[in-house]
Amino acid sequence: MDKLVSLAKRRGFVFQSSEVYGGLGSVWDYGPLGVALKRNIKDRWWQALVGGREDIEGLDAAILMHPKVWEASGHVGGFSDPMVDCRTCKARFRADKLADARCPQKPSKLPGEHAACQLTEPRQFNLMFKTFMGPMEETASVVYLRPETAQGIYVNFLNVLNASRQRIPFGIAQIGKAFRNEITPGNFIFRTREFEQMEMQFFVKPGSDEEWFEQWREIRMAWHLDLGLTPAKLRWHQHAPDELAHYAKAAYDIEYEFPFGWQEIEGVHNRTDFDLSRHQESSGKKLEYFEQATNERFLPYIIETSAGADRVTLTVMADAYREETVEGETRVVMGFLPAIAPIKAAILPLVKKDGMPELARALYHDVRRHVPAFYDDAGAIGRRYRRQDEVGTPWCITIDGDTTTQRSVTIRHRDSMAQDRVALDQVTTWLAARVGE
Ligand code: ATP
Repeated sequence: MDKLVSLAKRRGFVFQSSEVYGGLGSVWDYGPLGVALKRNIKDRWWQALVGGREDIEGLDAAILMHPKVWEASGHVGGFSDPMVDCRTCKARFRADKLADARCPQKPSKLPGEHAACQLTEPRQFNLMFKTFMGPMEETASVVYLRPETAQGIYVNFLNVLNASRQRIPFGIAQIGKAFRNEITPGNFIFRTREFEQMEMQFFVKPGSDEEWFEQWREIRMAWHLDLGLTPAKLRWHQHAPDELAHYAKAAYDIEYEFPFGWQEIEGVHNRTDFDLSRHQESSGKKLEYFEQATNERFLPYIIETSAGADRVTLTVMADAYREETVEGETRVVMGFLPAIAPIKAAILPLVKKDGMPELARALYHDVRRHVPAFYDDAGAIGRRYRRQDEVGTPWCITIDGDTTTQRSVTIRHRDSMAQDRVALDQVTTWLAARVGE
C-alpha cells in the first residue's frame, strides 16, 4: 500500500486534500491521471447499466434533500456506528471493527502495555454530516449531506417512471457524491469521508425479487471480472441474519483481497418494499405502481447494486500494480486494461534531432484527437518507457530514423515489451482497433 500511495502522489493519481495545510482527514483529491482513471471506470459502469440496457434510466439527484427523506429512510434514527473512546490515548474507534476489547493505538502497541489503555463503553455515533439551509443556524434549518445516493432515486421513482414510460421491471442508475463522517476512515481512498457512489436501484414485482437478485449478483460480479481484476481476489460475502441492515431481505457483498485484507467493494441488496413504503407513509403520497396487464397496484420491491467509485478505483490500482525484474532492474507496471488506462499512447521521438521531434509532434496531435496521449522527448528512451509503464500506458510509439526514411514507427507493448513496426499513417487505426480492449 505504501508503494501504491507514493506512486499515486508522485505521478498525479491522488493527492491529500488541502495538503499545504497538513491535509484534511481522509479526504483526497484526484490529480490528472487519477481523474482520468476514475472517469473511465464511471463511464464503463454507466455504459454497462444505462447505455447498454433498455430497462435502466439515468438520474442525477441533488446532494441536498428534504430532511424528512432521512427521517423516513431511517438514517436520522439509525445510521450510526458504535464508537468507543480510549481514555488513555484519546483516540476513537469503531467498536465493531476492533479485533478485541483493547485499544489498537499507541502506547498499547508496545508489548505488555495494553493494560495502560482503557476503552469506554460503545456509544452510537450518527455518520451524517449536517449543515444549515438559509441564513438561520437553527434546528429548523438543518439539512444533511446525503450519506448515499439511493434515496434520491427512491423519491424520484414515479417521476422517472412517468417521464420515461418504462414498465416494471426497470431500474434507475445514478453516480454521485456521498458523505459519511466515518469514525475510523483510512486505507487511502478505501474509506473516506467524501466519496462517490455508483448505485442502481431495480424495481421489480414482489415475488420476482429473488430471481432478479440472483441475476444482478451475476451481472455485477461479471462487471468486476471484466475490469480485468484477478478472479482469485474476488469473492462473495453473504450477510448473516444478524449482519443484515434493517431494510434488507438478503445482502451479498463483492469483496476484493486488498493488501490490508478482504474488504467490500460493492453491495447487492434485496431491499424489499421498505424504502418506497417508508416514503409513501412519511410523505402521504402514493408511490404504487399500476400494472395494466393484471389490473394490480403494488409497491415494487427493490434490488440495489451499490459500488463506490473511489473504492473500485483503488481496487483497480491495487490489482494493476506489479514489479518485475528486467535485466537486473526493477520496472513498476500498472497493468490497466487499455479501456480504462488514463493515457492510451505515449509518443516518443528517439532523439531530439533529425526531424524526429517534428514528426512525433505531428503524430501526437493526430493521435490526441482520437485517444488520450502523451508526448515525451526528455531523457533516455528506456527511462521514458519505464515512466509510461508506471502509469499504465499500454503503448509507446517511438519515432526513429526509419520513420523519416520509411514512414513507419515502433509500437512497444507495455506488458510483453514486444515491439511492432507499424506504418505512420496506420497508427490511429491500429490504436482504435485495440483501445477498447
Ligand atoms: P461499511 O460497513 O464498510 O461502513 P457499508 O456496508 O455501510 O460499508 P454501503 O452503505 O453498502 O457500505 O455502501 C455501498 C458502497 O459504497 C460500498 O460497497 C463502498 O464501495 C462504498 N462506500 C461506502 N462507504 C464508503 C466510504 N466511507 N468511502 C468510500 N467508499 C464507501
